[in-house]
Amino acid sequence: IKIKITNIDIPVAFASAFEGEIIRRGDMQVEFDGSRVDCCELVMTKDASEIEDHKITLVGPDIDEMPVGSKQSICYVVEVAGKSMQSDFEPVFERKFHSYLNCVEGMMHTGQRDMIRIRVSKETFEAGFRAKHIGEVLYAKVKSEFAAVVDKCQVTIYTDPAECTRVRHEVAMSLFDKRDERLNTLTDEGVDVYYSCIMCQAFSPSHVCVVTPERLGLCGAVSWLDAKATNELDPQGPCQVITKERPIDERIGEYEDVNEAVQKLSQGALEDVSLYSIIEKPMTSCGCFECICGIEPLSNGVCIANREYAGMTPIGMTFSELASMTGGGVQTPGFMGHGKHFIASKKFMKAEGGVARIVWMPKELKEQVAERLNATAKELYGIDNFCDMIADETIAEDPETLLAYLEEKGHPALTMEPMM
Ligand code: SF4
Ligand code: ZN
Repeated sequence: IKIKITNIDIPVAFASAFEGEIIRRGDMQVEFDGSRVDCCELVMTKDASEIEDHKITLVGPDIDEMPVGSKQSICYVVEVAGKSMQSDFEPVFERKFHSYLNCVEGMMHTGQRDMIRIRVSKETFEAGFRAKHIGEVLYAKVKSEFAAVVDKCQVTIYTDPAECTRVRHEVAMSLFDKRDERLNTLTDEGVDVYYSCIMCQAFSPSHVCVVTPERLGLCGAVSWLDAKATNELDPQGPCQVITKERPIDERIGEYEDVNEAVQKLSQGALEDVSLYSIIEKPMTSCGCFECICGIEPLSNGVCIANREYAGMTPIGMTFSELASMTGGGVQTPGFMGHGKHFIASKKFMKAEGGVARIVWMPKELKEQVAERLNATAKELYGIDNFCDMIADETIAEDPETLLAYLEEKGHPALTMEPMM
């Protein structure tokens, strides 16, 4: 492989060739694990006077003071300033950290926000890699990739456990909540434009996501605000403005402008898409959807499986079996990839009657979305505790047992219009 080393002051190589690198337990010097201890990564916009450019600070022990193979806390806060900087850009920068840190030889990064996990290999540690080098990578990449909006940048890395607890709970979580609230107040009707995203065309050449306030990208990582920020940061980039001035069919969410954009961006592979239907002209799926939903004919509803779920669904297929027939950038009526956040959206399958069609979900996913989904069902249909009516793998893995449960609970899908 050809390795292009960019000019970053670290003792190991930096190249996209390392992005897929796996670091096994036995090969790791140290692991930072947000699912077990307090971790987070965040970008904060500051006034230029508060920032000393290229200052990198470590608060807490360095990697050579951590026991080999141990699980540690880490929070890194990247503070930026610039005349054109906006706080809406912060999550877009953060999302890039995953790829930046994975480009470091002997470093593995997964997740985002406070659910990150990072491994540093023994070899990379022995080459001299220390905590401050994380700061060097983030500084160099943010300064070069976002030069148009970032004039000054400084990075603080916290490894002291008490400081990590403070930063995560007192700084990061409220910032993340504020961002989510801002998005939750936006509706599809309330905005003038939607955005396309074609970031996945690298491996799904005809795939186009249409991102709206109430329907995020199917990877779960690109909200309407993120797409908007991406477009402002790079007007020729992967996210383009789509107007919505010429509706064709409000029921399924079809627009002439959206169809034209999708035709152009898919190089003619796609004719038309709807935003709110799983049966009529559904949106395409690439490969990185967080969830798939598919029709379960006996119950007149849909089952949803998330990527983490390895078991069987009442449709008779596992997540990966569903994925193999849904992905690849083609329209598959009756099946659709989507983000987790979309499950509780008032626009979820709106054309087919909305979230009341959901009859089955893995237990873990149900718990993750319960609060928001219950609120949506209450608002749309006046149903309390809707999630109690939805079956999971502990209740049913076949259509007959599923149907019996739904009948017992009086699930609304049973009395809705036939879907097919
Ligand atoms: Fe963009 Fe959609 Fe790919 Fe997410 S899944 S990166 S929104 S094209
Ligand atoms: Zn994708």
